[in-house]
Amino acid sequence: MSAMVTFFPVGCGDMALIRLADEPATHVLVDVNIRVAADDDADDTRDVAKDLRDRLPRDAKGRPYVDAFLLSHPDKDHCTGLEKHFHLGPIDEYPSDDQPDAEKKIVIREIWSSPMVFRRASKNHTLCADAKAFNREAKRRVQRFRDGKLLIDGERVLILGEDENGKTDDLGTILIKTGDKFRTINGRWSSYFEAHLLAPMPRQDDDDEELLSKNHSSTILNMQLASSALHPDSCRFLTAGDAEVAIWERLWSRYKATPDVLAYDLLLAPHHCSWHSLSYDSWSRLGEKVKVSPDARSALGQARFGARIVASSKPIKDDDSDPPCIRAKREYKAILGDHSGIFHCTGEEPNARSPEPLEMEISASGVRRKEARARGVAAVTAAAAPRAG
Ligand SMILES: [Zn+2]
Repeated sequence: MSAMVTFFPVGCGDMALIRLADEPATHVLVDVNIRVAADDDADDTRDVAKDLRDRLPRDAKGRPYVDAFLLSHPDKDHCTGLEKHFHLGPIDEYPSDDQPDAEKKIVIREIWSSPMVFRRASKNHTLCADAKAFNREAKRRVQRFRDGKLLIDGERVLILGEDENGKTDDLGTILIKTGDKFRTINGRWSSYFEAHLLAPMPRQDDDDEELLSKNHSSTILNMQLASSALHPDSCRFLTAGDAEVAIWERLWSRYKATPDVLAYDLLLAPHHCSWHSLSYDSWSRLGEKVKVSPDARSALGQARFGARIVASSKPIKDDDSDPPCIRAKREYKAILGDHSGIFHCTGEEPNARSPEPLEMEISASGVRRKEARARGVAAVTAAAAPRAG
């Protein structure tokens, strides 16, 4: 099967599933936002839990699983539904083997967590129950590692970015330092995947710390996804949670001499297409007088030929709301215009009335939306608008 990234329609929130081209396919989930309305049969909000489960493999015991789950940062719209749909706790206490498939908890074989991102988030607000549950589970797994216990599926953890004051210095193989690249998922080396950890940025001085905390510090990864063993660099997927303008400015100052580090074929527009990822100005207050930050725009402007930018948000309206923000969409479309790229919004695919998961297929020639026909839907738009494919 081909490699694919699926973006689920979860309103202003993130939930994206990466399927690698290996066999059996490795699955990495980035964030989760399964709202109560999506779980309610009487509500017409898209049942994204079913959409996710339909795409996940089952293990030898019939349990649905992801090989890795990354929480970009612990805001509600990135972790809602975690406790309800996923198994947290020791794998030998898995509770739902007797349940029907649709009700079985999803096993997280390896959890990807950043203590630094958690530290910055909890300075600014109280964490929601799902975020606290995630943090407990990550800490439990780290403790298990420190205790020298066997690392098995459902118990692994990878720490992304160093914590302050040397708190993560003893973590050896389970610590990825910011600026490093890694190729292991759930303890296995992959020739179909490489990720470059670009943020969280390590702690420097207090002023800097304050600014980074207020800019929705998030884990930022630029992932290289292979379409086959012969084509390891078919797609760069840049994913950045809700990171805002000051973080992108710092990334540009760090990588402007090597901009390929920030190059992408697929960009999840940070913070649900918020203008604050590109500018310090308020769109709702200043309107067309707002100014873009040239450095943030450069950091987010490294689109490769035919790139796609996806806003994970409700439909983007031509008004003063933010996020999603029409001005940010215009800026992203301008970036893409120079590279024959296409902009998508999860709340508008295929239409705003009943959005469906947006599936981006990866081939040797790049990224394209899986065709309507292949999705089992009447091929209405594909034939009429080849550019939209
Ligand atoms: Zn968010």
